[in-house]
Amino acid sequence: MIQDRIYNPQMECMDPEVRRKLQGERLRATVALEYANVPLYRERMDKAGIKPEDIHSMDDLKYLPFTEKTDLRDEFPFGLLASPKSEIVRIQGSSGTTGKPIVSGYTQNDVEVWTEMVARALSAAGCTREDIVQVCYGYGLFTGGLGLHQGASQIGAMTIPMSSGNTQRQIMMMRDLGSTILCCTPSYATYLGETIREMGLVPGKDIKLKAGIFGAEPWSDEMRARIEELLGIDAMDIYGLTEIAGPGVAFECKAKHGMHINEDHVVAEIINPATGEQLPYGTAGELVFTTISKTGQPMLRYRTHDICMLQNDPCPCGRTTVRMGRITGRTDDMLIIRGVNVFPSQIESVLVGINGVAPHYMLVVDRVNSSDTLEVKVELTEEMFSSDTVAHIEGISRQIADQIKSVVGIAAKVSLVPPKSIPRSEGKAKRIIDNRKI
Ligand code: ADP
Ligand code: ZN
Repeated sequence: MIQDRIYNPQMECMDPEVRRKLQGERLRATVALEYANVPLYRERMDKAGIKPEDIHSMDDLKYLPFTEKTDLRDEFPFGLLASPKSEIVRIQGSSGTTGKPIVSGYTQNDVEVWTEMVARALSAAGCTREDIVQVCYGYGLFTGGLGLHQGASQIGAMTIPMSSGNTQRQIMMMRDLGSTILCCTPSYATYLGETIREMGLVPGKDIKLKAGIFGAEPWSDEMRARIEELLGIDAMDIYGLTEIAGPGVAFECKAKHGMHINEDHVVAEIINPATGEQLPYGTAGELVFTTISKTGQPMLRYRTHDICMLQNDPCPCGRTTVRMGRITGRTDDMLIIRGVNVFPSQIESVLVGINGVAPHYMLVVDRVNSSDTLEVKVELTEEMFSSDTVAHIEGISRQIADQIKSVVGIAAKVSLVPPKSIPRSEGKAKRIIDNRKI
């Protein structure tokens, strides 16, 4: 069993009343910064008839306008910066809804805030400077790799920046270096565990892992049990998103009963996605976040489109922060494939630019050997189907696969199918078949 450690007891175990006051002060400062420096927020607040002076405390949060992913796309790349560009020390990014990624700018302060959030998550999983942390999230624009790396370094743990892929090498390093904490997606953890078992390696003997921090995609308690058994570890959930910071926005403690939200830096609300109205603790709805200590690209009431519940009953670990439950769904059509956000609209934007295919397509997602697969079925046009050569048609599927890889960032199998073979629907087109069970 891991030893849960509270990284910052002053903040994590603060009296909730005192914390709410602190949040109110930080919210006021954030709103003032946004109003002064970000035209989009100033216009929205003016339109709603709200001035920064009208925001006194957390009770006034509900009057503020929402932010959507499309706002990040429309203001790409720097329209939402609340600090001068010269203050920005880092850019991270994630999938947008169409071709372009969305980006977030971090000041030095924001990098430090994010780093501490991750350090808190790692501590809760028992990480100390004696540990060896293997990070198998991708390094790059995605927040997973650098995020976990910074948190582990902050604790002073020996950090191995493996990045994603190359399972044999991951296992070799894990074994030779004696990694004790694993950071990756839960599906990759399962795959690693299965491969380790197939290789005849024995967790506890050949493999020294004691805990893993898994996130970036939804998973279940059944999957937790499987990972814990395969690897002989404690498997902990971590949640985050680029728009707000990255991984570490919320994390599980040893109680494994909801993820503690780092409430001195981010404020969570649950809303009814249809009306925008706030919902009470214990009711499922759309998760909304407001950042209250970021200065680079702070966010007011960012709609995550993730569905979950919040709970504020006391946790045996001693932290007093509100917890979020597992993500049980989405209010939009975003898919998460191998930890990467994928919108059907991104695939569509690729298909409309290709000659010879019709805009009728179907995305089939599955999980084979613990790894997600994506097949894009798309209809050929009548002309292409009746007149063209096999070689040309193969060229088209390669072109589509290459462009999907460059726009979405993941490999897809492209199947070109005859005209009119994809079922037409009478209402909203059904474009996704997700056969995964988590
Ligand atoms: P990440 O690298 O964490 O995936 P992104 O910004 O690319 O960050 O994606 C954020 C989205 O990923 C979230 O809105 C949510 O849908 C999903 N996500 C992240 N962590 C989890 C988690 N622990 N459980 C379920 N979904 C998650
Ligand atoms: Zn707890």
